[in-house]
Amino acid sequence: MKLLVLGTGTAIPRIERGSSAYLVTARGAKVLVDVGPAVVRRLLEKGHEVDDVDVIVLTHFHVDHTADLSTFFFACNYGRVPRQKPLTVIGGKGLTRFYRGLRAVYPWVVPKSYDLTIQRLVNGSLTVSGLTITTVPVNHNPESIAVRLDGKRSITFSGDTDVSPNLVRLADRTDILVAECAFPERKVKGHLNLAALDRIVQRTRPERVILTHLYPDWDNWPGVLHAPYLIGEDGMEMEV
Ligand SMILES: [Zn+2]
Ligand SMILES: [Zn+2]
Repeated sequence: MKLLVLGTGTAIPRIERGSSAYLVTARGAKVLVDVGPAVVRRLLEKGHEVDDVDVIVLTHFHVDHTADLSTFFFACNYGRVPRQKPLTVIGGKGLTRFYRGLRAVYPWVVPKSYDLTIQRLVNGSLTVSGLTITTVPVNHNPESIAVRLDGKRSITFSGDTDVSPNLVRLADRTDILVAECAFPERKVKGHLNLAALDRIVQRTRPERVILTHLYPDWDNWPGVLHAPYLIGEDGMEMEV
């Protein structure tokens, strides 16, 4: 499995940290987790195209996680070559309504040349090319989900979340946990800080924890992190 971190930022526009997105390549399938602003271009910068992606998982509908979904759909219709291969979009409660809303304002997102599956997946699993995708609801928005991808190894994405027992269950013994840790110290409702995340990590024991969704509080934070923690950076790639 390969993990490419496309964005580690938040709603705050920053040069160094783009909004949320991660690309996982496993068993020939490519899964894009979240599609924040400018992610379509970010994929290009890292040598990938929208056509490479088989599955998109939306952890929730906040703009910093979904803004480029319309751009993605538009590129599938009007890119260099119209998309042929099927695309599955997975999300939580209200996904169909969300997609219908996009179609209402952007009729050009309706697929012209490929099959699109809009798949609500909460507390369930789906297997694509031998890769199992499992989601659970987490505490952030009503539609928020965390997602775990299991191939030979596993990567779990917390999505935006506050402390969530479901996340503890999902991330148990995962190899890599890509965890939101919005702030090192201050605790804001709907998000994690280091202390809250550490309680989850103590119980789930991932081999490595990549911190993401990082607010500017992290810029001048004087602390030092030890294994298994790693501060996420845009463009970070790792073999899992
Ligand atoms: Zn967010
Ligand atoms: Zn959010």
